[in-house]
Amino acid sequence: MAAHHVPADLPDKLPHYIGGQFVDSVGGETFEVLDPVTNQPYTLAAAGQAADVDRAVAAARAAFVSGEWPGMQARARARILNRIADAVQAQDKRLAELETFDTGLPITQALGQAQRAAENFRFFADLVVAQSDEVYQVPGRQLNYVHRKPVGVAGLITPWNTPFMLESWKLAPALASGCTVVLKPAEFTPLSAGLWAGIFREAGLPDGVFNLVNGIGEQAGDALVRHPDVPLISFTGETTTGQLIYRNCADSLKAMSMELGGKSPAVVFADADLDAAIDSTLFGVFSLNGERCTAGSRILVQRPVYAEFCRRYAERAANIVVGDPHDPATEVGALVHPEHYAKVMHYVELGKSEGRLLAGGGRPAGLPTGNYVAPTVFADVPRTARIFQEEVFGPVVAISPFDTEQEALELANAVRYGLAAYVWTSDLTRAHTFAQSVQAGMVWLNSHNVRDLRTPFGGVKASGLGHEGGYRSLDFYTHQQAVHVTLGEVHTARFGTSERTSA
Ligand code: NAD
Repeated sequence: MAAHHVPADLPDKLPHYIGGQFVDSVGGETFEVLDPVTNQPYTLAAAGQAADVDRAVAAARAAFVSGEWPGMQARARARILNRIADAVQAQDKRLAELETFDTGLPITQALGQAQRAAENFRFFADLVVAQSDEVYQVPGRQLNYVHRKPVGVAGLITPWNTPFMLESWKLAPALASGCTVVLKPAEFTPLSAGLWAGIFREAGLPDGVFNLVNGIGEQAGDALVRHPDVPLISFTGETTTGQLIYRNCADSLKAMSMELGGKSPAVVFADADLDAAIDSTLFGVFSLNGERCTAGSRILVQRPVYAEFCRRYAERAANIVVGDPHDPATEVGALVHPEHYAKVMHYVELGKSEGRLLAGGGRPAGLPTGNYVAPTVFADVPRTARIFQEEVFGPVVAISPFDTEQEALELANAVRYGLAAYVWTSDLTRAHTFAQSVQAGMVWLNSHNVRDLRTPFGGVKASGLGHEGGYRSLDFYTHQQAVHVTLGEVHTARFGTSERTSA
């Protein structure tokens, strides 16, 4: 295996970025950030507290109330967003190098995520320029139009699985809409978020429009959620965290968008192109180390092809290259953090009593240290099993057989989540009827997750609240005010004009 790669010029501290300045926490608090291959701390990040969040929100609020950004012409904002995209693109290799080092994601996949981050900015630059709003006419009487305005200071809270890309997913539409922002990135992976400050400044984003507070969820994240001057929270993370944030937003009635966990089914019918289904369902759960919200982590296979599918799938899974994240040959790298590694390993052990182990089942040979898990395949997993019901968020898949389409649908819907579903069949009618009946926010027919940025993104049931993606994201970050203009005479009942009869 290649020697462990450590990027040159790693920062020795990761400060906050508030009002155009890099700053430490008011009280000087810090936390250690670990390299997932050695599990050794490699830097210290500022641990934001309520006082730091106050400062960041004040800077964002000042930029919103008195700065030029919210009122800037869409075209002018778009020019800056395109410059941001160019800068991200220009440093995609450095970004991928840092992201891989911090998250343990394979370098080739981290590079793809960096490029997708650039694309997010280009996309929302285009969208905001092309945006039009509704007008309703009542000839001779009324003109009604929608006046769109940015909501204010957006609180953005992101997870560690593809940090930079998921941050871009919120930053791009929030900024395109004219909001100012406070970003609280995940504490396991704060390294790449520090790059935004330089990118934004060079692109010409005014100071105070983007603010970054590092820190622990229960401290910095919680303070952002409860802050009275933050009218909106966009959150991506675990369902249980989302539930807590939902409760904590109630007092100030914040707008919320919640992208939460998943346990998505990939349903393989006997008439499917089995070669393509095997390639795609392997990629669907083992890419990004299995740390993917839309992972097809339950594969339901129709009985006539079940034995063949399981055999071929397990052979390929056992052959997946697990290794140093920076090695371009690596297909599965190191899980993000020892705590997460322990959680995934717990499920691997549990699976041995809940299903039939076909591949993996522990630490891969030749990798005695670091958060490495061999791609693990369990077959014959019943719907009551915890590895069928619960999100593992690692390179672990549960395969179950089914006989009829009805049974497949029941199994697909038999969990609390409803983020994505993947259907493999050559029967056109069945593909569509199944897609329309499955409880999932997004369905792919004969494909893994390949998403056009215009489409809605989001889950149902415990997988989320609200949909982002395309113009839905702009709707989330803006108020749509209805302005009613009278063009003619308005019939008004004339109160207070009747003759009083004396008592
Ligand atoms: P997490 O819920 O532990 O943390 C997410 C973020 O919330 C972090 O920044 C964390 O610091 C912050 N946080 C934690 N407690 C908080 C609190 N009390 N108040 C405010 N903020 C708080 O999630 P994670 O482990 O970082 O990410 C993995 C999860 O994210 C998985 O469940 C995965 O499915 C989900 N995810 C969903 C999507 C999607 O689009 N649906 C995308 C990626 C990841």
